Amino acid sequence: MADLVTAADLVNTAEATTLLTPASIAGAAYIVAALLFIMSLAGLSRHDTAKAGVGYGIAGMTIALVATVYATFADAWGSPQATTGLILLVVAVLVGGAIGLWRARVVAMTGMPELIALLHSFVGLAAVLVGWNGALEVTGMSGALLDIHHAEVFIGVFIGGVTFTGSIVAFLKLSARMSSAPLMLPGKNVLNLGALVAFVALTVWYVITPELWLLVVVTALALALGWHLVASIGGGDMPVVISMLNSYSGWAAAAAGFLLNNDLLIVTGALVGSSGAYLSYIMCKAMNRSFISVIAGGFGIAAPTSSSDGEEAGEIREVTAADAAELLRDAGSVIITPGYGMAVAQAQYPVAELTSRLRERGVDVRFGIHPVAGRLPGHMNVLLAEAKVPYDIVEEMDEINDDFAKTSVVLVIGANDTVNPSAAEDPGSPIAGMPVLRVWEASNVIVFKRSMSAGYAGVANPLFHRDNAQMLFGDAKARVEDILRAL
Ligand code: NDP
Repeated sequence: MADLVTAADLVNTAEATTLLTPASIAGAAYIVAALLFIMSLAGLSRHDTAKAGVGYGIAGMTIALVATVYATFADAWGSPQATTGLILLVVAVLVGGAIGLWRARVVAMTGMPELIALLHSFVGLAAVLVGWNGALEVTGMSGALLDIHHAEVFIGVFIGGVTFTGSIVAFLKLSARMSSAPLMLPGKNVLNLGALVAFVALTVWYVITPELWLLVVVTALALALGWHLVASIGGGDMPVVISMLNSYSGWAAAAAGFLLNNDLLIVTGALVGSSGAYLSYIMCKAMNRSFISVIAGGFGIAAPTSSSDGEEAGEIREVTAADAAELLRDAGSVIITPGYGMAVAQAQYPVAELTSRLRERGVDVRFGIHPVAGRLPGHMNVLLAEAKVPYDIVEEMDEINDDFAKTSVVLVIGANDTVNPSAAEDPGSPIAGMPVLRVWEASNVIVFKRSMSAGYAGVANPLFHRDNAQMLFGDAKARVEDILRAL
């Protein structure tokens, strides 16, 4: 009985064969890849599961690439056109992959934000090119479907263009090739709003009469708007801009997904777009900034009234590594607040060593992490995890801020803007209103840095002139090692 094949079975088999087309197989693979991407995001949200998260992401991307290549070439397999296409694709992947691997290997942790900004610009550029390709090669569409296609082209090119130049400006600012101070063009809010209104009007026009010159105009408009939006944002708000551009690059990818009819690109783009937007929102809340105002290129933010040349008059006190070691030996409690300088100096290893030495002596040592310390969200957490500092002594700003007042010694290691009292005390300061680590409330503060120069936002720091603050000049790694020797 088991060997008998019924007519219904035959029909099912035939149906199954016709359902198993390259496109449907790729569709199934895309669902698996999308699930892996979601698992990757979930994994990346916690220290202990982050490595697994990266693994899921790599697996998802490999499946996605193989499925896309298969679906693209399977139908025309063996034809000269498919062979040429495949060769071009393999060459492009090899060249791109080699450049990517090389960059990833040589990039220093301090150069990561710039690299990420640059990579976002590629996503933007790709969306512009896909949009243009969609406009030049319209096949087999008519009526409402064609109108939707035109709208997709226009929106994709616009988001891509804004992301492209915005990310380039972010790259230039982060790598100090351009001043981090906000560009204050007269009527900048009107310019941004005007560009948005023009975009909406042009989109309607293009859907009605899809003439190519309109696409040229919107491309130029988007490129100019992206440049202006990010150039108008000041140093202190740059972290939000980075995650905002991350979000824009996601939406640009989703727009390209609609044009290429690729479901996975739509899902992935939406995941990146919404998680980037949420991260920007959390960062704005943490920094007491208005989300709308930052994404609208500093909309409604007045120019700062205080000087921001980074130099402030007044006396400073210097301390030697030996005296700092003495102070630490007698301390009951120590809080370390690391910043960008710790990353530059790669001081996390001696800092971890110092922490364990002090803890062995019974000193209560903890870390206070500002949400935008360094140049990347989570920058300090990554460095400390790399140096195997126990997670349970690494605390967020809100958890630790009330404890500075009862702390004997605070070590400010290469941090500047994130411990600047003028953010809390000077309403005219460019970083006024940004919550900071209130290190100055401790009995003693030792600031590790190389000179009196300002931090990323270019704002002078009155902390260095406080009576309870002492400067330990030099490279943070070398100075922490000096303290270790003196201990
Ligand atoms: P800052 O950029 O304010 O200051 C870093 C300090 O480290 C500098 O004053 C510098 O002083 C010192 N430094 C540099 N190299 C060394 C070294 N080798 N040894 C010792 N000290 C060194 O850092 P924070 O982390 O406090 O603040 C981060 C800033 O970056 C904020 O303004 C934030 O808005 C911005 N930002 C943050 C992003 C994020 O996502 N986290 C993204 C983009 C910007 P000196 O030169 O005298 O040594």
